[in-house]
Amino acid sequence: MKAYRSMVLVSSDPLSMERGARQVFERIQQELNLRGIADEVSLTMVGDLGRHDALPLVIVYPEAAIYGPVNEQDVPILVEEHLYKGRIASDLLASSRELSGKIAWLNARKGTLPAENRIVLQRAGLIDPNNIEEYIIHDGFEALGKVISEMKPQDVIDSVTHSGLRGRGGAGFPTGLKWKFVAGAKSDQKYVVCNADESEPGTFKDRLILEGDPFLILEAMTIAGYAVGASEGYIYIRGEYALARQRLEAAILAAKEMGFLGKNIFNSDFSFELHLHSGAGAYICGEETALLESIEGNRGEPRPRPPYPTTNGLWNRPTLINNVETLANIPAILREGPAWFKSIGTPGSPGTKVYTILGNVNITGLIEVPMGITLREVISIYAKGMKNGANFKLAQTGGSSGSIIPASLQDTPMDFDSYNKAGVALGSGALLICDENTCVVDLAKVLMNFFRVESCGKCTPCRIGNQRAYEILDQISEGIGTLSDLDDLESISDNLYQLSNCGLGQTSGTPIKDVLKYFRAEVEAHIRLKVCPSGICAMSGHKIHA
Ligand code: SF4
Repeated sequence: MKAYRSMVLVSSDPLSMERGARQVFERIQQELNLRGIADEVSLTMVGDLGRHDALPLVIVYPEAAIYGPVNEQDVPILVEEHLYKGRIASDLLASSRELSGKIAWLNARKGTLPAENRIVLQRAGLIDPNNIEEYIIHDGFEALGKVISEMKPQDVIDSVTHSGLRGRGGAGFPTGLKWKFVAGAKSDQKYVVCNADESEPGTFKDRLILEGDPFLILEAMTIAGYAVGASEGYIYIRGEYALARQRLEAAILAAKEMGFLGKNIFNSDFSFELHLHSGAGAYICGEETALLESIEGNRGEPRPRPPYPTTNGLWNRPTLINNVETLANIPAILREGPAWFKSIGTPGSPGTKVYTILGNVNITGLIEVPMGITLREVISIYAKGMKNGANFKLAQTGGSSGSIIPASLQDTPMDFDSYNKAGVALGSGALLICDENTCVVDLAKVLMNFFRVESCGKCTPCRIGNQRAYEILDQISEGIGTLSDLDDLESISDNLYQLSNCGLGQTSGTPIKDVLKYFRAEVEAHIRLKVCPSGICAMSGHKIHA
């Protein structure tokens, strides 16, 4: 690689592009040319850079200074000051007015690759996602080469099992065990499916992984295919993820051209073909069996289980289905070894977790942190505290069907076992952080409105239960609820959990149960006193959300 004295990264996620990232990139190039320093500076458009409060972002290494939001007119000053004269252009720094050296994750990545503290996002935001050579330079396809040339399929499964990796889609099922089930199933054809139908409101980590480092998923799926004996794979991608799809399409072509995908990979007997399949916007297609139905060209409705996809999956063949983030861990585990992976995180939940932070905090965006960090740490270190100095009230983890975490649980380590023990779930990785001005009735109502619309309608408890729960919450928010409504809500949540066919219905009552468990007095105030303590609901004269 050529050595440069400075490295400039421009964010190119959809929001940055919408706000003129391309024009900023081109203007930087022009200004560098004008000053005759284009040869000394590496300029790259990269995926998401993690911070969403000041897009488009420009980061300059080795100082790791974050500039943003940067517009075209800012560029001459930025280039003149920082890249020509070597002085930080203080007025253009991101709003926190601090050098990114103070932000742990950027400090760890300062001018070096790969980053020590990141596994899944180690290249995202640092390499050009359209350039396979940059991926290769930064350890790309090293794990695949090692697997095919040095390891038997069973060795690969053993490594994944010993790493302790658990599914990052929400359930936390041991990944190695799932691989073992598929490998052990007898069939002339098997499949690997990557679930990239990330539809949970507030969750966008999979999109940013795919946009920032698309080759990573290709490499992981090919390794998975080798391990379980599959010769074909599908990436089922959310229909709205146009940029991610475009980058994946280009990545598949480039990988095929260079022999990392397709026939006789690394000149071996192993061949693996990969297809992209876009969803059409139904939330339920994130449920793995509905996803399979959708790939087969059928209406996206969940299948009854058992049998499970590991034996009867796509076109009734054994199928390995893993989430994007789960797969994104695989190459690093094979490259660095399972013991290395186990040394990160907690004993029961090794590795890192990618979270999307949103809500009433100062900095929203994407982080990757070791398993076991607490919510309090996330809010204070990465989100830079609550907005306007308000008090933290609750967080919802993992999207609409996630648990409601009250302030009393904010010091619970965020790992699968600690959260299970505390009676809550970690979920897929969205952290919706709410302050004291959030009304829990309004929150529950917004969520039930989502589920009554997104229920596929196949089974009665979910189709009717979510609708009825929404109606009851609506009445409470209008000041015409009764105390017996709370018993009805409890009963509906129990029925949803026990009688629904799939995970959507089974977990849709979780927020209601949590709200009644931790904030019952606030809900009762709506009924007994006809008052919304947060001043949000209709009885307070405000417009309600749902
Ligand atoms: Fe459809 Fe809901 Fe039944 Fe799942 S639980 S199959 S989403 S109706």
